[in-house]
Amino acid sequence: MSVNGKTILITGGNSGIGLATARLLLENGARVAITGRDQAKLDAAVAELGGDVLGIKADVNNLADIDVVVKKISEAFGSLDVVFANAGISGATPLGSTTLEAFESIVRTNLTSVFFTVQGVLPLLKEGSSVILNGSVMRELGSPGSSAYSATKGAITSMAKVFASELAPKGIRVNTVIPGATRTPIWTRGSRAGATVDATEKAIAPRIPMGRFSDPEELAQAVMFLASNASSGMTAAEIVVDGGNIGAPWGIPLFRG
Ligand code: NDP
Repeated sequence: MSVNGKTILITGGNSGIGLATARLLLENGARVAITGRDQAKLDAAVAELGGDVLGIKADVNNLADIDVVVKKISEAFGSLDVVFANAGISGATPLGSTTLEAFESIVRTNLTSVFFTVQGVLPLLKEGSSVILNGSVMRELGSPGSSAYSATKGAITSMAKVFASELAPKGIRVNTVIPGATRTPIWTRGSRAGATVDATEKAIAPRIPMGRFSDPEELAQAVMFLASNASSGMTAAEIVVDGGNIGAPWGIPLFRG
């Protein structure tokens, strides 16, 4: 499973799953570009990662920023072997008290911008390239108050299949990682501001057969496999990394004899 020498763009690469993936791919000889909106977090990530990493401040919701990403990657790398469309936000959208702005901001970031990221970088992708989307187990959990987030992640699964069909003639593969709850700062943002990942994990882990959150590094391993030629026969596929959350829901501690 080699990514040595591959050029890779990770949106939302300054935190969480994106950052862990950037670290692993760099360790394995890839040339990596990461994006994020927060310049300070981006600078900290670039400093921490060192190596052959290109940090680009870019909001995926802004098409002009996507153009900047394409231009900078074109200048630095010439082309792209892999794009990991990972940037995403969570947020509560309960029926009865959700504004149009709150709902649409999640749809814009988690769905619309994934489409336009892939469309934007398409000219840089060569035959043999790999597109990887980031979905979520939330697409099928029916978690109360998560309509917008869950719907965007269901849509990612659908959209990945369409991308795979459209890009098969170009020899470009499209696959999805499906994380379950993972130890990242997403659990401390927005409506969860003030919460800690540890406290949230303690509350939620009993609903997961393996009894714990995943580490972002465990997602990074799945992304590296999909980025590498080891997965050359796979397109329109997905890898679920969720401690059994959706595959074996009756394996949770509550149901043990
Ligand atoms: P983090 O909050 O740690 O990382 C999210 C990343 O997305 C940050 O780098 C953030 O950078 C970036 N981002 C958010 N909005 C934008 C934007 N408009 N433009 C550019 N970058 C943006 O969370 P995770 O690592 O957990 O999340 C990564 C992905 O994994 C998301 O798609 C999420 O839905 C998915 N996921 C996560 C799970 C979990 O339990 N952690 C479970 C299932 C799926 P910045 O703040 O600088 O903009």
